[in-house]
Amino acid sequence: MVTPRSILIATTNQGKLREARQILAGLPVELTALDAYPDAPEAVEDADTFEGNAEKKAVHYAALCGGWTLADDSGLVVDALGGEPGVYSARYAGLDADDAANNAKLIAALASVEAEKRTARFCCAVALASPDGVLASVFGTVEGLIVDEPRGDNGFGYDPHFFVPEKGMTTAQMQPELKNRISHRGQAFRAIRSKIELLLDRA
Ligand code: IMP
Repeated sequence: MVTPRSILIATTNQGKLREARQILAGLPVELTALDAYPDAPEAVEDADTFEGNAEKKAVHYAALCGGWTLADDSGLVVDALGGEPGVYSARYAGLDADDAANNAKLIAALASVEAEKRTARFCCAVALASPDGVLASVFGTVEGLIVDEPRGDNGFGYDPHFFVPEKGMTTAQMQPELKNRISHRGQAFRAIRSKIELLLDRA
């Protein structure tokens, strides 16, 4: 295997990019982002698992950029809803749905479910691919309960309704440092960092 000089982080989301750069800082590679490939066609995210989508995205952009590429897919899994919204988290209330519409649909769907049965988890899959295929795939989760009343102004998406019992607050009430420490995405990116270190050592 040839040691890569750079790794593409396949996201245009500036928040995710910042977080990924912080966690991957110090690796002996340059980290590039998708803005360097403005004409790249988007990957089709039609797998029925987070891992499937992350791997598809990583393979797609690795083939396009000709080098090592990292991609992620994340979402909310609610037990009482049979795992919904799952891979459809971003578009739960429709293709153009915003966070408010997705949260309203979630709370309505759970109206008849008792508080202690509202168990849920945020999941994040991160895949690393080269133009030859998937090199590594990791997964992170954080457990919580869905609450009716939104709490907190930080974060995004379902954060105001995702209560983490061990911390006594929702992920929207957490400072970014705390959320990154416990979050599905933080765990998955730290795990992929370890995999990258091993792969670089062996290259
Ligand atoms: P994606 O990984 O960019 O496809 O995001 C999927 C969707 O899952 C987001 O649009 C959010 O609705 C939800 N989601 C993923 N991670 C989080 C999180 O950390 N907090 C709140 N919502 C999240």
